[in-house]
Amino acid sequence: MDADVLVVGAGPAGLATAACLRRRGVDVLVVDRGAAVGDSWRARYDRLHLHTPRIQSALPGLRVPRRYGRWVSRDDVVAYLGEYARHHGIRPRFGTEVRRLERDGDLWKAETDAGPLQARQIVLAGGWNGVPKLPSWPGQESFGGEVLHSSAYRNPAPFRGRDVLVVGAGNTGAEIAADLAEGGAARVRLAVRTPPNVIPRQVGPVPTTLLGITLDVSPAWLADPLNRFLQRRFIGDLTSYGLPAAPAGVVAQARATGVTPTIDVGLVRELRAGRVTPVAALDRFEEGAAVLGDGTRLTPDVVVAATGYTSGLAPVVGHLGVLDDRGRPLAHGRHTVAGAPGLRFVGLANPLKGLLLQIGLDARAAARAIAGELS
Ligand SMILES: Cc1cc2nc3c(=O)[nH]c(=O)nc-3n(C[C@H](O)[C@H](O)[C@H](O)COP(=O)(O)OP(=O)(O)OC[C@H]3O[C@@H](n4cnc5c(N)ncnc54)[C@H](O)[C@@H]3O)c2cc1C
Repeated sequence: MDADVLVVGAGPAGLATAACLRRRGVDVLVVDRGAAVGDSWRARYDRLHLHTPRIQSALPGLRVPRRYGRWVSRDDVVAYLGEYARHHGIRPRFGTEVRRLERDGDLWKAETDAGPLQARQIVLAGGWNGVPKLPSWPGQESFGGEVLHSSAYRNPAPFRGRDVLVVGAGNTGAEIAADLAEGGAARVRLAVRTPPNVIPRQVGPVPTTLLGITLDVSPAWLADPLNRFLQRRFIGDLTSYGLPAAPAGVVAQARATGVTPTIDVGLVRELRAGRVTPVAALDRFEEGAAVLGDGTRLTPDVVVAATGYTSGLAPVVGHLGVLDDRGRPLAHGRHTVAGAPGLRFVGLANPLKGLLLQIGLDARAAARAIAGELS
């Protein structure tokens, strides 16, 4: 046996769980397919800052340093995660990808690209954003321009003077569209399938995500009128700029689709200035043109697909009956799914309270349950 507990992933969720386990004296091995702590953040776009304030983003047992400011930058998230691992004495084994998990008597066996590993318990913390989801639009091969997934976008420099179509108005698409417009792209259009709930990052001095901490447990009929009021008061009606109101409120939409609101960090200013133009969803490519859902034909130089990710969980645990029909874990934190004792998930959710806060709660709860079962 390699360890009592194998934690898969050395991102915030894996590190937080390992820290909580170590504090309880549990023998834990953390593996990650990457090369260093913070890799998932190191690869994100340059202007990214957390949308949750510093105090809402700390992992168990270590504050985010005050010098990182209220909105922590990408590089400071990387620095914090490195510091977190050192502080808790966590030394992950890198270059180790877990490909499949199997029950092996009373133990678990992990097939990895660096050989098999055995443990009594497993925590899967491989993240929600493991595998970029790039739709294969019909006729794409006829498009002469460039198509890239948002995970490959770093900054606007390569797009200066170019006509760019950003697909998807979630947090990533909205921020990349604003970044491109501010950074000198000749033209920026934002293809929107479902209008998002756009909310401000802060209301007066108060971060909006702090106000949203209770939203995961609030009924939509109670919370959404308040959310609508905040949107009207602090964002305003964007219909005349091409972005109508979302069809459902923040809570109703999150419950029905798992989609969280788009926090405004520049899009609204660029919409009002006419530097970003919303258009209909991208439907297909035809004779070199991008054809939208309303039949409009565009010929952008570049398409940036901010179309999300999949977790990549299915090949690892899909055969164990622990995922729902959308590939999401059936249990989180301390809970396990019947038939898979000792297998837990941390971080694989999309709560309105902010995932880092949820990770802290789930890591603590999972560690408590595991320590109890091992003793
Ligand atoms: C652009 C962006 C901005 C965000 N901003 C915020 C914010 O402001 N506030 C907030 O609370 N949350 C935010 N989040 C959500 C969330 O907090 C982060 O995505 C966070 O990094 C999730 O941590 P994680 O450990 O679950 O996943 P990750 O950070 O993705 O880490 C997972 C790790 O697991 C490894 N891994 C995956 N699969 C395997 C495998 N099979 N074998 C071995 N290793 C594996 C990966 O290499 C990676 O290192 C944001 C997310 C994104 C994408």
